[in-house]
Amino acid sequence: MTIHASRQFSEEHLDEDPQEVAHILEEAARPLLQSNIVECRGHRWRYSVPSSILPVGCFEVSARAPLFFAGDAFASNRVEGAALSGLAVARAVAQIVDKGGPRK
Ligand SMILES: Cc1cc2nc3c(=O)[nH]c(=O)nc-3n(C[C@H](O)[C@H](O)[C@H](O)COP(=O)(O)OP(=O)(O)OC[C@H]3O[C@@H](n4cnc5c(N)ncnc54)[C@H](O)[C@@H]3O)c2cc1C
Repeated sequence: MTIHASRQFSEEHLDEDPQEVAHILEEAARPLLQSNIVECRGHRWRYSVPSSILPVGCFEVSARAPLFFAGDAFASNRVEGAALSGLAVARAVAQIVDKGGPRK
């Protein structure tokens, strides 16, 4: 079983020992489980969620060779947002190709 902490809880405990934090979560989960916990391991996932989102599909740096940024930091911060962002880049690149390639 994997227990994910909330964003607020994670920020409050970010610099603490992951194993000690895991035990706090373990105690919170214990009454909800219908079996004993035999082992518990904590993992600090420091960059698991973007702290702020740019509300566009992707970000283009206009240079001689176009450069695109895509991922879950654009539009929405889940797998779906990352996939949609990748599609937004694909559409933007296709538009450039349709127009005859990048500016010279
Ligand atoms: C524990 C956990 C559970 C999650 N569960 C869910 C879930 O159930 N449902 C859901 O929708 N989302 C979930 N997410 C969020 C989801 O994983 C992300 O939204 C998604 O993976 C973001 O995709 P991405 O392509 O933007 O970034 P990533 O998947 O993080 O890909 C970034 C890539 O860039 C590479 N990289 C980083 N720096 C460099 C560099 N300097 N040079 C070269 N490569 C580099 C990394 O190695 C990585 O391969 C979860 C995330 C975590 C951490």
